[in-house]
Amino acid sequence: MAKSDQSQEVNVLKDIIAHAKEYGFVYPSSEIYDGLQAVYDYGPYGVELKNNLKKLWWESMTRLHDNIVGLDAAIFMHPTTWKASGHVDSFNDPMVDNKDSKKRYRADVLIEEKAAQYELAGEVEKSQSLLAAMGKLMEAENFDSLRELMINEGITCPLSGTANWTEIRQFNLMFSTQVGSVADESSTIYLRPETAQGIFVNFLNVQKTARMKVPFGIAQIGKAFRNEIVARQFIFRMREFEQMEMQFFVRPGTELEWYKEWAEKRVRWHLALGIPAEKIRRHDHDKLAHYANAALDIEYNFPFGNKEVEGIHSRTDFDLKSHQAYSKKKQQYFDPEINQNYIPYVIETSIGADRLFLMTLCNAYTDEIAEGKQRTYLKFHPAIAPVKAAILPLTKKDGLPEKAAQIVEELKYDFNIIYEDAASIGKRYTRQDLIGTPFCIAVDHQTLEDDTVTIRHRDTTEQERLPISDLHQRLNQACSFKRIFEKL
Ligand code: ATP
Repeated sequence: MAKSDQSQEVNVLKDIIAHAKEYGFVYPSSEIYDGLQAVYDYGPYGVELKNNLKKLWWESMTRLHDNIVGLDAAIFMHPTTWKASGHVDSFNDPMVDNKDSKKRYRADVLIEEKAAQYELAGEVEKSQSLLAAMGKLMEAENFDSLRELMINEGITCPLSGTANWTEIRQFNLMFSTQVGSVADESSTIYLRPETAQGIFVNFLNVQKTARMKVPFGIAQIGKAFRNEIVARQFIFRMREFEQMEMQFFVRPGTELEWYKEWAEKRVRWHLALGIPAEKIRRHDHDKLAHYANAALDIEYNFPFGNKEVEGIHSRTDFDLKSHQAYSKKKQQYFDPEINQNYIPYVIETSIGADRLFLMTLCNAYTDEIAEGKQRTYLKFHPAIAPVKAAILPLTKKDGLPEKAAQIVEELKYDFNIIYEDAASIGKRYTRQDLIGTPFCIAVDHQTLEDDTVTIRHRDTTEQERLPISDLHQRLNQACSFKRIFEKL
C-alpha cells in the first residue's frame, strides 16, 4: 500500500470511530473518567445492531441446522478447566518494550507486520521464511533469538524509530480474581478467555439431555476476557468482548471433511450478509495451536489491513480428552451406527461479535458525492439495520402526527420503528441516513385523504407512494432474515 493510501485508510477509520460515537453506536467506556483502554460501551443504535448480528448468527446456527443446539454457560468456571485446556500454561503472548518510547508491543505482531510489508512489495518468499523462522522460535520459546530476529530484520518502534528493545517476556492473557471471602491461592478463578470450554465441559450434559447423535453441534454466545498487551484499533481488540462459538462434534477420522464444509459455509455466511467477496480473504494457518490439526482465519480488509474476523479450527479430541484426564470422568460417546465408544473430534467456528460489528460498520460506511452534494450514510443490510423505518409526519399539525402515530402502532410490534416530527423533512432524512435506517415513511396531507404514504429508500434516495396497508408486508420482505438465509 502506498503511503498516501495508507494515511487515507487511517483517516477512514478515524471517521468511522467518530461517526460511531456521534450517532450512538459505540462510546469509550467510562468516558467521563477519560475512558478505560480497550473497553467500549454500545449506545442505542449500537446495541440494536449488535443484537441483530447475534440473532442472525444464533438463528443461522440453531434454526437452520437441526443438529445444532444452544447453551449459555457461566463466565466463571472451575479453575481446573483452564489447566486442562492449556490456558494456564500456554495462553501467552510474547511482550516486548521499546526502551526509548516506553511503548509496549507484541513481538509476533511486529514480525508479522514486517512479513506483510515484504508480501506487499512482492517478496513473498522472504515473507514466508520470516514467518516460518518466527514460528519455530515461538514454538521453542527461544525469546533471545526471537529478539535477535527482530533486530536483524530492522524492526523499529514506530514512535521512537529505534530498535532499542527490552528482552521478550511471556505474558499470560487471563484475568484472575478471587472467589469467596478468603483470598488465597485455592480461591483464584479466571474470567473465561474463550467461551468454548463451557461447551466442552457440558458436552455430555447436552448430548444426553437433548438426545443428540454425532455429528452434532453446540452453539454459544457470551463474554470473554483477555488482558491484551496491545489494545488498539478501536473495538477490534478489546479486553472484554463477546464471542459466538460453535463446537461441532464428529466421528474421529471425518474431521477434515467437516472442517472443509464448515470453512465454506462460514465464508458463504459473510457473503450473504453483503460483504463483498474481494474484501474477504481466507488465511490458512501454517503454525497450528497445540490443540489443532487444521486452522484458518476468515479475514476482512479493514481500513488497517486484512485482519481476522472469524477462526475455523479442527481441534481434534484435545479438549475432551484433556477434560477426561483432569476430571477423571469419561467423555465418551457411544456411536450406535458403528457400535463403538469414542471421544469425538471437534470442528470449531469462532467469531467475535464485536469484530463482526466493526466489519459490518466499515462495510456500511459510505461517504459519497451525489448531485454535487456530499452524503454520508450507513448502508446496512435491512435485516440487521438498527432501525427499520422512521415514521415522519410532514408537519406537526392538521392531524398528521396522530395519523403517523397510528402507523407506528401498527408496525412497532414487529419492527424497530422511530417516530420523529421535529426539524425539516430533509434534515430528518439525513439523520436516518446517518444511523442506517433503510426506509423513511412520510405522512402528508394526501395520507389523510387516501391512506397512502411516501416511502424513501436510503441507498437510492428514491421515493414511491404506497398504501399504508402494504407497509407491513414491504418491511417484512426487506427486513426478514430469510433474505439472508436463502443465500446460505
Ligand atoms: P487474534 O490473533 O486477532 O488475537 P485470536 O486468534 O487470538 O485473534 P481466537 O482465539 O481464535 O482469536 O478467537 C476467536 C475470535 O474471537 C476471533 O476471530 C475474534 O473475532 C474474536 N476475538 C479474539 N480476541 C478478541 C479481542 N481481544 N477483542 C475482540 N474480539 C476478539
